[in-house]
Amino acid sequence: PFVITSPCENEKNSACVDVCPVDCIEEGEDMFYIDPDICIDCGACETVCPVEAIYPDDEVPEQEAKYIEINRNFF
Ligand code: SF4
Repeated sequence: PFVITSPCENEKNSACVDVCPVDCIEEGEDMFYIDPDICIDCGACETVCPVEAIYPDDEVPEQEAKYIEINRNFF
């Protein structure tokens, strides 16, 4: 699945929500989160994110790795 990371916390742009074909991106208090059990790895959200906060889970930068858990734990 794809994972949303820290740049979203200051941005909270909802472009990703609008393009997700399976509607698996939900709004939290500080940022948006991707439900890893529903995401179909299409990559549409990554393309539209204005702050490049979204990565495939195997390409998340080291310093953002904790967001893999954070996304999962939101659901
Ligand atoms: Fe939705 Fe596709 Fe992004 Fe997964 S990769 S969260 S399915 S838009």
